[in-house]
Amino acid sequence: MVLCAGVFAIAWMGRMAPEAVAPVAGMPTLPWTRVALPILLLAGLAAVIMLRLSGPVARLAGFVSGGLDAGHGLLQRRDDIGSLAREFHALLRDLREREENLNRERKIDPVTGVANRTVVPDRVAMAIARSARNRTGFALLVVDICCLAAVNDRHGHQVGDQLLAIVAKRLGEGVRATDSVCRLGSTEFLVILEEGSAENLLRVAGELAGSLADPARIEQASIPIVSAAGVAHHPAHGDTPEALLRRADIARRHARGSSVPLAVYENGQEESHLREIALLNDLATAIVHDQLFMHYQPKMSLSSGSVGQVEALVRWDHPQLGRVPPDEFIPIAERSGQVRHLTRWVIEAVMRQQSDWRDAGLEVPVAINLSTVDLADPDFPRTLGILAKVHSAVPSQLLFEITESSIMSDLAVTSAVIDAVREAGYQIAIDDFGTGYSSLAQLKRLPVRELKIDKSFVSRLQEGTDDAVIVRSTIEMAHNMGLVVVAEGVEDEAVIELLARWNCDMIQGYHLSRPMDSASLATWLKERMPGTQGVA
Ligand code: C2E
Ligand code: CA
Ligand code: CA
Repeated sequence: MVLCAGVFAIAWMGRMAPEAVAPVAGMPTLPWTRVALPILLLAGLAAVIMLRLSGPVARLAGFVSGGLDAGHGLLQRRDDIGSLAREFHALLRDLREREENLNRERKIDPVTGVANRTVVPDRVAMAIARSARNRTGFALLVVDICCLAAVNDRHGHQVGDQLLAIVAKRLGEGVRATDSVCRLGSTEFLVILEEGSAENLLRVAGELAGSLADPARIEQASIPIVSAAGVAHHPAHGDTPEALLRRADIARRHARGSSVPLAVYENGQEESHLREIALLNDLATAIVHDQLFMHYQPKMSLSSGSVGQVEALVRWDHPQLGRVPPDEFIPIAERSGQVRHLTRWVIEAVMRQQSDWRDAGLEVPVAINLSTVDLADPDFPRTLGILAKVHSAVPSQLLFEITESSIMSDLAVTSAVIDAVREAGYQIAIDDFGTGYSSLAQLKRLPVRELKIDKSFVSRLQEGTDDAVIVRSTIEMAHNMGLVVVAEGVEDEAVIELLARWNCDMIQGYHLSRPMDSASLATWLKERMPGTQGVA
């Protein structure tokens, strides 16, 4: 194109009057074509070369400024541009390696610019020595950026890196020059807060955690920072770097578990943390190797005095730790995803037991507790159907107790599971009623037969108290909805008398009987109801 323009220009000038292109008067006149033609040809040639070169050169420049990953197309070229690109590539790689080595030597995290984890043991040991010598105290704050994986997935790793750099900057801005901020791991930071009373350092730690509450603005996006932080203080919480770091981390886990931004280590938490880990590791073995067994607690009808049903309560005899209460290991099973196996084990144990009782001439309806995880499992009704078939269970002789909070966790899924279980012929009870936030109106649409008032309202029930008002009105409202009401945690005769007056249907509690093994229950039932073929 440029060449055409040159040729066109020459032709056009050739048509012009010679005076128009003549040089200044007095100077010797050359025929204009002898001067202009070579110039124009040269200009055209230069333009062509420029055009052929400028594209690749610009890309080469972009490659150099954009880093190692930017210029892959150029590296394949066989011409001079290609060899130049390869040279640049080697140079950039070299530079990057040198920078990384330098950072490593300087112990700097390249993403955030703060010290990396290699400095942590020494710095904490020095802080301990200073604190012990001057009796000043200091604190370790471990901060975990819980949202980083989600940010990486949603916005890419570059934005994730920028988020980490913003966090490091905010932490750095909130501390004194003598304090230090280090990057502990991919999502974790450590802040060493030097010299101060536990209260003062805790206040600073709270401010630091608070400084992460505002979202980060990155590339026009507002990204919320979800973090959890834990604090351990020297000397109260340990006197070695390992102990202090471990305990700050345990506090951080507590913060995360309770969805609060910051928690302080409390003495004894490490022991319960270690116990939790032991239980978590051993639970699978316990399920497979029959360390679990069932106890049964009767529910009695207040009007007839008969035992309408028993509640199955699981027990675990740990070989080293002894009897572990279900309140302790069931939440662990829920968190670790093992509760489905546990529930399956309980259902099978109960179905087998009912079959044995049936063989012995006893028809015992049993209530089984389900966890939130079971109700969130759309496969649960199918699994139940298979187990019932294998053990020839009678669905009408089984009832499932579900807590109101587990129903409300995801109402759409849980109500589908509850409907399917009910349609298969099993009964449903609402457990621990009064401890959650649901109202009877919300539970109305569920196919529920029974409502169990939580023991916290029942065990110290006295006329004229707030609990009395709650229990009495719950009984009335539940009856209006056609529900059977059970009061759990009945521990004395006076409570039974009140409940009977308010027309409560059934009671369960230590006053009637503690939970007991299957053999004791069979004896108890025969003594309480001699001659009976069933307990319903
Ligand atoms: P829950 O379902 O509310 O069971 C009633 C708990 O209250 C039982 O504790 C029972 O022993 C206790 N209890 C009974 N009568 C009285 C009383 O008069 N006073 C007092 N203070 N307590 C009484 P347990 O057996 O330790 O079970 C605790 C919880 O563990 C149960 O509470 C239930 O949520 C859970 N759990 C027990 N077995 C299972 C199970 O097989 N599966 C599931 N998912 N959870 C279970
Ligand atoms: Ca229960
Ligand atoms: Ca209960």
